[in-house]
Amino acid sequence: MPTPSEIDYPAHLASTWPERGGGGGPLAVAPKVFRDELAAAAEWVAGYLQGIPERPVTRPMAPAHRQAMATGSLSQDGQDLGALLEFVDRAIAPYPTGNGHPAFFAWINSPPSPAGVIAELLATAVNATCGMGEHALMDLERGVLRDLASLAGLAPTAGGVLTSGGSMANLLCLGAARTWFLRQRGATDGPAYDQAHARLVAYHSDQAHMSVAKAAAVIGLPPWRLRAVPTTPDRSMNVDALRTMVDADRRADLLPFCVVSNLGSTATGAVDPLEAITEVCHRAGMWHHADGAWGGLGAQVPELAPAYRGVAGLDSLTVDPHKTLSVPVGCGAALVTDPSRLRDAFTFRASYLEGDQDWPWMSDYTIELTRPGTRALTLWATLHHLGRSGVVALLQHYQDLARYLRHRVQEHPGLELCTSGPLPVVCFRLAARPETGRQDQADLHTAVAARIQARGHAYLATVSHGEQTVLRACICNHLTTTDDVDTLLREVLAAATHLQNTQ
Ligand SMILES: *Cc1c(COP(=O)(O)O)cnc(C)c1O
Repeated sequence: MPTPSEIDYPAHLASTWPERGGGGGPLAVAPKVFRDELAAAAEWVAGYLQGIPERPVTRPMAPAHRQAMATGSLSQDGQDLGALLEFVDRAIAPYPTGNGHPAFFAWINSPPSPAGVIAELLATAVNATCGMGEHALMDLERGVLRDLASLAGLAPTAGGVLTSGGSMANLLCLGAARTWFLRQRGATDGPAYDQAHARLVAYHSDQAHMSVAKAAAVIGLPPWRLRAVPTTPDRSMNVDALRTMVDADRRADLLPFCVVSNLGSTATGAVDPLEAITEVCHRAGMWHHADGAWGGLGAQVPELAPAYRGVAGLDSLTVDPHKTLSVPVGCGAALVTDPSRLRDAFTFRASYLEGDQDWPWMSDYTIELTRPGTRALTLWATLHHLGRSGVVALLQHYQDLARYLRHRVQEHPGLELCTSGPLPVVCFRLAARPETGRQDQADLHTAVAARIQARGHAYLATVSHGEQTVLRACICNHLTTTDDVDTLLREVLAAATHLQNTQ
């Protein structure tokens, strides 16, 4: 057997790499170079964020640039660290989604909170694996989940897990609901499982986010056993219709196991009647999950509070701090009133991983094992920068701007307000000329949105609203002011005039 000194190790294992100026192999960087690059990046970040309002909301990418970006281009030799910042500045930053800009009204995407931007970098340096072990970032995740649950108005027992976003949180909660339901029937395996699983039925309103259907598909629920309950004119779930559907399914020997409510529908910001739906769930032994990716944290806002009555009676709730709280993407959360039900669904162990009975690992609550600590620290940093009063003030700011926009739409003879709210999304349309057909009117709205997007002063989207295509402006940016709302309306009216005159 050779002794270590007799083995011919590559030289860099023992010494430094002269051309990189440090030890540790091809990833190593000299300390001074690293510090300088980090400082340059910090300087760039501050300037970039400050300059967003002065730049176009979005910029079209030249086809050649898209092609170059989308084609792998890795060279044989590595390049200096300095090339990174130059690349981001030239090839990435000029082409954002637009959601940092105060006149971006299209989707529920916010700018990053200042605290979150800094926290993301710091958490990346610590680079914890928030799925296992004993370390500070995993405890921080436990704590920040309690804060979220308390802000949402859930029962004090609630806990859960941070996720990549609302879609993943909906999936985890539906998975937990399914396991809970089957456990109660003693049908967790074997033929009993197969027989029960083939009869499971879930319900959501016809305004539900598509991630609910995706989650249902992933847990093995075919489309015919996912029921879309009709809505009332305010776009909230028709609970009488829900009751009728559940009763019919039970008579047909099916197994209704879960209702997914909207706590803020994506299209129009509608909130379903939680208390009445919980009652239906209790009567039929079902789990009540609410999709609050958009509105789940609004319970403390006085004007929203009446619509949020009943949150404490939910079995689970999806919230999405990367939407209304401006936590950097992606940070969502699955909150469950009895968190052990998430563990029942997601605890699987390997022999080399031994968890702690009293402090279950976060990987026991989800399908991820290696999980980023950036979620916990960016959320913690944003919440602690805001404080409880800051959270309410931020959400109230969105409400106030939506009210201003509704008011401006209502007072303009060329615009008509459509049903939306109580969350801060405003749907409106151009007053139809008597001779315009429905399709022409839909095309006009689509063209108006496209023209505004191309001009770059503001950004909004269209939405199907009943039989019509209308404009939809959603407010989710702490930097947005009444000036930005005015800019949006100016753009809408100018685009409409231009398009109608050139028709
Ligand atoms: C945005 C949204 C989702 C999906 O959340 P992601 O974070 O984008 O995965 C789910 N439900 C509703 C109501 C939403 O608005």
